[in-house]
Amino acid sequence: MYTIVTLASHSSLQILKGAKDEGFRTLAISLAKNSPFYKRFPFIDEIISVTDYKQFYTLSESLRKLNPIVVPHGSFVAYLGSDGDNRIRLPYFGSKKILEIEADRNRQLSWLADAGIKLPKIFADPADVDRKVIIKTHGARGGSGYFLAKGKADLQKKVSKLGLSADGYIIQEYITGIPVYLQYFYSPLDKSIELMGIDRRYESDVDGIGRIPLSLQKDMKNNVTYTVIGNFPIVLRESLLPKVYAMGQAIVDKSVDLSPPLGLYGPFCLETIVTPDQEFFAIEISCRIVAGTNLYISGSPYTDLLYDVPMSTGRRIALEIKRGIQKNNLNLLLT
Ligand code: AMP
Ligand code: AMP
Repeated sequence: MYTIVTLASHSSLQILKGAKDEGFRTLAISLAKNSPFYKRFPFIDEIISVTDYKQFYTLSESLRKLNPIVVPHGSFVAYLGSDGDNRIRLPYFGSKKILEIEADRNRQLSWLADAGIKLPKIFADPADVDRKVIIKTHGARGGSGYFLAKGKADLQKKVSKLGLSADGYIIQEYITGIPVYLQYFYSPLDKSIELMGIDRRYESDVDGIGRIPLSLQKDMKNNVTYTVIGNFPIVLRESLLPKVYAMGQAIVDKSVDLSPPLGLYGPFCLETIVTPDQEFFAIEISCRIVAGTNLYISGSPYTDLLYDVPMSTGRRIALEIKRGIQKNNLNLLLT
C-alpha cells in the first residue's frame, strides 16, 4: 500500500481526496495551527503537525516506512524555497528537471517559443519600448512586484523612481485581452494529453479597480496589484479547443528535448491572454498542479467528456500512479 503525501495547503484537499478515491492511504503535513481544519476531512488518514513546512525534510526517514509518494503543488516552492523540490529525497511525482527550467524565466520562455507558442514581445532595451508594457521584477511571484507603463517615457520615470537596476526586471509587451488559464494533464503511460479544465484568476486589486468610478481610480497613487484571491471557471468556444490541445501537445513534445527521455508529464497549466482575434499569448507555464483546478474537484466539463467518474486533477494524478503500479512502470513517474 502506497501513501500519497503532500503539504496541507494550496490544492492538498483535492490531491488527497483524489488519492483516497483511487484507493491510496493519505497523509498531510500541516502547520500546527491549521491541523484542526484539515482534521475535518475524513479522506485524510494521517496529519503530521509541524511549526514550519521545512520540518518536512526531517521527517523523511519516518515517512519512508509508509511507502510514500510525494505530490508537489504551488506551496512547495512558496514555502520550501526555490531549491525545495530538489532537496526532497522521497519518491516524488513529476520531473524536477522541468521544474528547474520553469523556475528560470528566460529558459521557460524560450521553451514555449520553440514550441511555437505566441509570446508577448520582450524588450531587452528600454529605449526600444513603443507600446504599453508590463514590468516584471526578478523574484516577483503571483504578480506582486509587477507594474505597467504606458510607453518609454513612463517606463523610465517609474524605473528610476523605484531605483531598479537594469538587470533586475524584464519588460514585456502588455497584451490587452482576457486571461485564460489552461489546465492540462499529460500521461506518459498513455502518451496522451488531456484538457482538465480552464479558469481565470480573481485578483485583488486589479479585478476591483473597475468597481470604483474613474475619477477615484485616477487618484489612486499605488500601482495595481495582482494578488490572487480565488478563481472563476471558464468554458471556451468549442472551435478554440483543437488549438488548445495542439498547444499542450507542442509544449510536451518540445520538453523532451529539454529533459530526455520523458520531458514534462503530469499536470501543468499554460497561462494565456486571449486577444479579440482569438490568438493565445502565453505569459507563463506552471509545471505542477495549479490551484485553479480546485474548481473542478467533482470534475469539469472537459473531464466529463473523457471520464465516467468525477475526475479532478488530483484524482488524475492518483490514477496515473495507480496505472503505473499496475503496469509495473511506477519508476517512470517518480523522481
Ligand atoms: P497558499 O498555500 O495559499 O499560501 O499558496 C501557495 C502558493 O500558491 C502562493 O505562491 C500562491 O500565490 C499560490 N496560489 C495559491 N492559491 C492560488 C490560486 N487560487 N491561484 C493561483 N495561485 C495560487
Ligand atoms: P502572473 O503572475 O505571471 O500569472 O501574472 C499576474 C497577472 O499579470 C495576471 O493577471 C496576468 O494576466 C497579468 N499579466 C502578466 N503578464 C502579462 C502580459 N504580458 N500582458 C497582459 N497581462 C499580463
